[in-house]
Amino acid sequence: MVQQTRQTYDEHQPIEAKAPKKYVYLFQEGNGKDRKLLGGKGAGLCEMTQIGLPVPPGFVITTQTCLEYFDNGFKFPQGLPNQVRQAMAEIERAMSLGFGNPEKPLLVSVRSGAAISMPGMMDTVLNLGINDSTVQGLISRSGNERFGWDSYRRFISLFGNIVLNISDEQFHLAMERLKEERKVTQDTELTSQNMQELVNIFKQIIIDKTGKPIPQDPYEQLFMAIEAVFASWNGKRAQDYRREFKISSKIANGTAANVQTMVFGNMGANSATGVAFTRDPSTGENILFGDYLDNAQGEDIVAGIRTPKPISEMRQTMPDMYRELLKVRETLEHHFKEAQDMEFTIEEGKLCMLQTRNAKMNAAANMKTSVDMVNEELITKEEALLRLDASQLTQLMYCQIDPNNTVVPVAVGLGASPGAASGEVVFDADEAERQAKAGKKVILLREQTKPEDIHGFFAAQGILTSVGGKTSHAAVVARGMGKPCVSGAGDIKISHVENVAYVGGNRIVQGTVVTIDGTSGKVWLGEIPMVEPEISENMNKILKWADEFRKLGVRTNADTPLDAEKALMFGAEGVGLCRTERMFNAADRIGLFQDMILADNPEERLAALRRLLPLQKDDFKEILRVMQGFPVTIRLLDPPLHEFLPSEEAVERQIETLQKYQEALSNVSKLPQVLRDIDPSLQSVLVEDDNMLSNLAEVQSSELKKKMDTLQKIRTLREVNPMLGHRGVRLGITYPEIYEMQVEAILLAAGELIKETVPVKVEIMIPQVCTSQELKRVYGLIRRVERRVKDRLGITIPYTVGTMIEVVRACMRAGRLAELAEFFSFGTNDLTQATFSFSREDAENKFLPFYNEHKILQDNPFEILDVKGVGRLMAITVEWGRKTRPDLKIGICGEHGGEPSSIEFCHRINLDYVSCSPYRVPVARLAAAQASIKEKKGMIKPFQ
Ligand code: PEP
Ligand code: MG
Repeated sequence: MVQQTRQTYDEHQPIEAKAPKKYVYLFQEGNGKDRKLLGGKGAGLCEMTQIGLPVPPGFVITTQTCLEYFDNGFKFPQGLPNQVRQAMAEIERAMSLGFGNPEKPLLVSVRSGAAISMPGMMDTVLNLGINDSTVQGLISRSGNERFGWDSYRRFISLFGNIVLNISDEQFHLAMERLKEERKVTQDTELTSQNMQELVNIFKQIIIDKTGKPIPQDPYEQLFMAIEAVFASWNGKRAQDYRREFKISSKIANGTAANVQTMVFGNMGANSATGVAFTRDPSTGENILFGDYLDNAQGEDIVAGIRTPKPISEMRQTMPDMYRELLKVRETLEHHFKEAQDMEFTIEEGKLCMLQTRNAKMNAAANMKTSVDMVNEELITKEEALLRLDASQLTQLMYCQIDPNNTVVPVAVGLGASPGAASGEVVFDADEAERQAKAGKKVILLREQTKPEDIHGFFAAQGILTSVGGKTSHAAVVARGMGKPCVSGAGDIKISHVENVAYVGGNRIVQGTVVTIDGTSGKVWLGEIPMVEPEISENMNKILKWADEFRKLGVRTNADTPLDAEKALMFGAEGVGLCRTERMFNAADRIGLFQDMILADNPEERLAALRRLLPLQKDDFKEILRVMQGFPVTIRLLDPPLHEFLPSEEAVERQIETLQKYQEALSNVSKLPQVLRDIDPSLQSVLVEDDNMLSNLAEVQSSELKKKMDTLQKIRTLREVNPMLGHRGVRLGITYPEIYEMQVEAILLAAGELIKETVPVKVEIMIPQVCTSQELKRVYGLIRRVERRVKDRLGITIPYTVGTMIEVVRACMRAGRLAELAEFFSFGTNDLTQATFSFSREDAENKFLPFYNEHKILQDNPFEILDVKGVGRLMAITVEWGRKTRPDLKIGICGEHGGEPSSIEFCHRINLDYVSCSPYRVPVARLAAAQASIKEKKGMIKPFQ
């Protein structure tokens, strides 16, 4: 919206002395590779023009102009107006029309387009150049009076809404009122005279709201529209979108404005407008896919106002046009080597291409496209891998409806974005946000969605609409986000006024639970069981190709045999981190572990540990067995002990309760004697009660003592900064019997498996190390236990010992640590915490969102590895560590090990492997391959 004071557009600007900066590129001259300068849409239009596709003439005003416009305090840079006028003159020549010419009027559109596509997030104005006199020219040239007035009223409402900031409801209501007066229900039933009436009504709305008439000067219209498009870059919608999708100014900065000759899809039965994909974006099938509407204009399809027809119907209704589209599809794919998403208009039997961009597909469709394009010899395996978005693979880890489900759906719409989701229905985006903040899972149910609903998409588990096709706003946005979406479920009748919907005799209100399946388009009432995803054939092929190229190994972080099994299925080549503390938290051993912590002396502690040993040994045995000889890195106990004890408050409450009963119990326990004293005949009775009460008192007092001891211990163990406290190797050194038990369990597990001829490869990892003396002590301990186990089992057990690198000092002493450690594993969760001095427990809930929003920090460093700080430390560690021990094996097991850009960095510093949660193993395999391919192609370099 244009809120600033408007500049004037002087016809007679002084001509600049120096060669003026170039702000404007005609479609035939712009370099289509330069998406940053021309924006995605502008670049696509230039490319299409230059490869000979039928593109209505036009030009791009660069993203740089938009930035200068903001920098100049919302004023166009000097020289822009002249360049726009010159470019307009070129279009006029090409079209033999005149901008503002009453006989042969040229109309243009102005559309936004940033370097990264942000569907529906910014503004578009159509039919610029129409006014009271040119409308007559339009009518006489088209011979269609209704079309002329219809175009004019569309212009006024769009200009009013986008440029003058008047709510579109105003225009919508005025039109509905007129339809009521004329007793018609459809827009198409309004006559040419009605349209002319609407033009007058709309003009009046503009005067009422702004105090001025709608500009009649075509150039004033044009420049105001360009300003509005620029301003939309900083609109709330666009900002929200960029924040959610982490579109930084490095990726896209400012929007271009594309000015293009208008073509009309609403000029009768041989006209149409449509959106098509060169391949089906939800399955990847190699067919022309899309929707079209005959006799319709512009945004009708994307807005989902009328439900469009599938493009395959064009084969019958407009066979020539369909054939031509097929040819365009082939040309585009051969040129871009990428599936395309295109917009077209057919004006009286003539096909015009209005946009092309790389198609946004869901992960499964993208994968199929990669496999197919290699088979079609359109791209190489390397290109097939590079075109995929590694983090998108997690989409395929979405739940699916249980195939054994027999519950009958209440509606079936279009499967617009795959995956299944259940949640409580909400009817608008704000409510979705509110409910999600309150911890609810919600499904956003709307007749259709609009760009301003974007925050509701972020908040919802899935989207359900009753109107609109697979290319409607809801479908496009949900697919981009990887959220399940069912669109066009027409059996659901929604009243947004009453916030209620009806389907098959059922009433849906806010809070009604529904399940949607974005693959089949089915909708159920209630929650339907779902199943875990599996690796598809295409994914398998892609990942196998990835394995051919990647240098990084991929392991998993797994604490249970089940996790290890899952990860193995997803292609993990080992366990990079087995956190043993999770095993202590299981219900059957937490008590034993607490006994160990609460023990008063080493003997008691040892006794508790002895009972824990067989349990730990069995856990390790199972994981080692599952991993079939792949390396398994088992980390010795890391967290501070108090984490295993109940909270201080809980124990205090228990003590309070016990103490309350102590007095009561002491009174009651005297009662039998009191009764006997009063009535000697009771001498022989109440003896049992006497015993029972004294037992109870005994239990009560011993329980109270236990709780007091526990409280005492909790208080002793309490630390102000537990994450920087008595944990990790510090704990292992001060309570050596704990590590001894763990090492014994590990070696016994390995030894017993070796005896069963099961292959094993054990790596013992020591956490939180910061000095080589720590390592030395634990090494001594391990060797002692090794000798014991060897004596017991009579065999030698191969194993290696290494250290985590998660303390800054460990990085600085890497050379020394490598004298003992046979491997390093970066614990980047702690290393990030230590490098920033940000508490990993608190930062993300406190100041980090603010830091990210205000660009104090670009990313959340706990999610995306901070290359400049933490990364630098890692690079130094690798260098110094390998200087001491050239074959030092180095991996990463912090959360960053499953994040694609961090994996790329790990490749650049030459790590041996990354380790991540089982579901991210496929992501890591692909990201690792992409890093190798990028390096081979010179797209990235080793980190210096
Ligand atoms: C780490 O610090 O990165 C790590 C893997 O250990 P944890 O998250 O268990 O502290
Ligand atoms: Mg750690």
